[in-house]
Amino acid sequence: MSNNGVRNGGGALSGEPLETQSPSWGLSPADELSAYRRALEHQVIVAATDRAGRITYVNEKFCETSKYSSAELIGRKHSVVNSGYHPRSFFVSMWKTIASGASWQGEICNRAKDGSIYWVDTTVVPLFDAAGKINGYLSIRYEITARKRADAALHEEVMRRREAETLLLEVIEALPDGVAAYDHDDRLILFNSAYRDFYDRSGGAIQNGVKFETVLRKSFDNGQFQFSSTDPVARQRWFDRKVKEHRSPGRPHLQHLWDGRWLQVQERRSPVGYVVGVRTDITALKQAERQIKDQAERDPLTGLYNRRVLLDRLDRLRTRQRKGDPPVALVLLDLDNFKDINDTLGHGAGDELLRIAADRIRESIRSTDTVARLGGDEFAVILNDVRDDEVVRRLVARLTTRLAQPVRLADRNVNPGATLGVSVYPRDSSDAGELLKFADIALYHAKARGRGSFCFFDAQLRAELQRREAIAAGLRTAIERRTVGIALQPQFALGSQRHEGFEVLARWSNTLKATPSEFIAVAEQGGIIGELGLLVLDKALAAVAQLRRSGYDPGRLAVNVAAAQLKDPGFPRDVAALLHRHGVEASSLEIEVTENVLIDRSAAVLRQALTELHALGVQIALDDFGTGHASLTHLKSMPVDRLKIDRSFVSGVGSNAGDEAIVRTIVTLAHSLGKQVVAEGIETERQLQFLRELRCDTGQGYIVSKPLLEAELELYLAAQSAPAARRAG
Ligand code: C2E
Ligand code: MG
Ligand code: MG
Repeated sequence: MSNNGVRNGGGALSGEPLETQSPSWGLSPADELSAYRRALEHQVIVAATDRAGRITYVNEKFCETSKYSSAELIGRKHSVVNSGYHPRSFFVSMWKTIASGASWQGEICNRAKDGSIYWVDTTVVPLFDAAGKINGYLSIRYEITARKRADAALHEEVMRRREAETLLLEVIEALPDGVAAYDHDDRLILFNSAYRDFYDRSGGAIQNGVKFETVLRKSFDNGQFQFSSTDPVARQRWFDRKVKEHRSPGRPHLQHLWDGRWLQVQERRSPVGYVVGVRTDITALKQAERQIKDQAERDPLTGLYNRRVLLDRLDRLRTRQRKGDPPVALVLLDLDNFKDINDTLGHGAGDELLRIAADRIRESIRSTDTVARLGGDEFAVILNDVRDDEVVRRLVARLTTRLAQPVRLADRNVNPGATLGVSVYPRDSSDAGELLKFADIALYHAKARGRGSFCFFDAQLRAELQRREAIAAGLRTAIERRTVGIALQPQFALGSQRHEGFEVLARWSNTLKATPSEFIAVAEQGGIIGELGLLVLDKALAAVAQLRRSGYDPGRLAVNVAAAQLKDPGFPRDVAALLHRHGVEASSLEIEVTENVLIDRSAAVLRQALTELHALGVQIALDDFGTGHASLTHLKSMPVDRLKIDRSFVSGVGSNAGDEAIVRTIVTLAHSLGKQVVAEGIETERQLQFLRELRCDTGQGYIVSKPLLEAELELYLAAQSAPAARRAG
């Protein structure tokens, strides 16, 4: 507001004498005034009022803007155009100013006749009469509605933005995720507390204006991140990769923090080119994932990997290993005497031993090796980077020494031990299944050498394996073509030397020169013993029926049956069916099972099968008695009619006092248990005599007859019914 009122007694628009204040235009004051007036008429809203504010003059622009005619305005109070926007105090202050003789300037919001609002930038000056007294006011106004609207809109926009920004910051701050933005220069321009808190080892580097690489470097150096590798080169590579990933953000990646938390980092470039990133704590997700993975991959008892993972890792060797990489060894490990510990100290102690063994194996190997429990007491270790067999030997020695340390189990001191077999990738094979098979063969071989030993799969074992495979293949064809034959070896009463029956023995003529003992073992391992056994039994029963039809009494028929055959739940039924088909009664059949059947892992299943067969009327003999590990307890628990003294003891009779003592003991034992005794492999008169004196019941051996082919049977039986003088021993 200025303080220069218009002091002139002249016309409404006259001020101070013009000639005193304006440069000379060469116009008369009246012309000059009219020029001003014309110029003003179009731009400026002009009104004059008396002292009370009654309008005495308005120009055309006033009328145009206020939409009132001059007739409607003259004589009315100027307040007719008040909009009600300004408080009363606004006008009180204005009136106070102008009434004091000063001019007033301000922006006023007016209302036109039609109710529309317009803004005017207003200057009001008092008019003085000749006496210097105020006799009215002159107001000059510029319409500023458009500017006012723009101002208001701008203000609104600014407010809105400010609000949005505050809101955004509040929202970002409330997020559990870490949010950060880096500008074109890679300097931090925005972040929330979660971001700062995640990187609690950044050493205060997280501040606006700090470069990304500085933040990362400080955190990295302060041990913010966990690495699987301790190799400084690998770690630097990680660092460089993270910087690169940040500069050209793409797929999300993970960070493992020092305190075990996992962050998923997702960065994008914004349209203006900032790198905006969100870091999410996915630790819980990772844990759940781990749990699910563990359930699928780990043995719950020991926490070691299971067979599936082991096979998977072996399988991956083929794709991961490059030419020239050091070999990898697979070690199969079987705890010694585990079954005994389980049986005598209980399953709790057995489990404890397995856990201890697992820990010891874990301790003995390197972190880059893999250890798995395959089931039961069988473990496997993949030893990486074994330059030569010497490395394997060293690791195996460490392993066995550690495993052999005494353990306290169920208040007893136990000396555990392990037997091991080793196969080597790629020397032995590059196939996972084969490596496992080869290591198993080596383990089997090591067991044969004695518990606690270990064995590499080697050329000799490979040759043996190939031979076994060839035998199995040939045998399969022979069974299919029913070209596996039988031989029957007579059994006789030792006292009277009268014929009692035959033992049936499988015969197979083959170019591989595999003996019955050999091909029977292959058949057992290869899962074809069941078919072979039924074929032999079928042929033997057919021979018996034929002999009977020819008028002979072949007596009791003893067939050898392997444990695997008894494990087939259909076996007793198959036997009954064959007996029925050939019209032979069950009491004429004897099943020979080896003594080890009694201590087999699935002894319960075997006992069930033998009991079923016994119930049919079939007799049971324990073959090769004295060579196995069965105890008298086992003997008591099975339905056994006859013990068959192993040939190895009988052959010692006459030359080995120990063997004689064993034979004597077995006979006494059998008789005192109410069982009969058969001695097999009798070759000499002396052996025959010795057994007779012991009152051994039955004999079998070359001294009377070798196993006979079917064609020879009738002749043999015919001789038996002839006077026996020739046969007397
Ligand atoms: P094993 O049951 O102990 O059969 C006796 C073995 O001793 C037979 O050998 C027989 O030929 C032989 N032998 C009999 N008397 C004498 C003798 O005085 N001196 C000598 N040196 N040997 C004698 P083979 O036929 O080679 O059978 C070996 C083993 O194969 C058998 O031992 C039996 O365990 C098994 N085996 C044979 N046939 C079958 C079969 O059909 N099924 C099953 N599961 N096993 C069979
Ligand atoms: Mg036998
Ligand atoms: Mg035998």
